[in-house]
Amino acid sequence: MESDTGKLVNWENGVPGNYPVELTELSNGQSVDSRIYPSLQQMFNDMQEQGIYPTVASGYRTAKRQRELMSEKEDSFLLQGYSRSDAKKEARKWVAEAGYSEHQTGLAVDINADGVNSTGEQVYAWLADNAWEYGFILRYPADKTAQTHINYEPWHYRYIGKDAAAEIYEQGVCLEEYISASY
Ligand SMILES: [Zn+2]
Repeated sequence: MESDTGKLVNWENGVPGNYPVELTELSNGQSVDSRIYPSLQQMFNDMQEQGIYPTVASGYRTAKRQRELMSEKEDSFLLQGYSRSDAKKEARKWVAEAGYSEHQTGLAVDINADGVNSTGEQVYAWLADNAWEYGFILRYPADKTAQTHINYEPWHYRYIGKDAAAEIYEQGVCLEEYISASY
């Protein structure tokens, strides 16, 4: 694995407070780790050539932003009638705690359709088949929620490098399984 972009961040492995992030800003104002930008741009170019129009809905986030997203998610469950403690529990199936989100590394991107030329389904289907060739993996597969502790998110992709992404795709494992098998 390319160790510089291979860091495991999940429910039990936080982002160090001094984690260095060098960002490149995208045309829509989102930012990503500068090291993944060329691969991301190449992937988007190739998608557009094939008539699929993606957008980065969310890239790098600060811990503060992550905290805001968590409380927004909790509020949405409260509004649906959940108790305070159940709302907290449900929110954590979708949103990582501040300090435990891959988005704080700049190595993860939520990729959606542009909302005009493509649908989410088209974008997600293309990514599921092809993103590994650019070094990105589907980070929260439907059948791996026990390992990831996050629900299926067809939009959330994590850069891990081309070699590791190819192995993860071929083996049908999630990042947690891949990393524990490598040590
Ligand atoms: Zn995400």
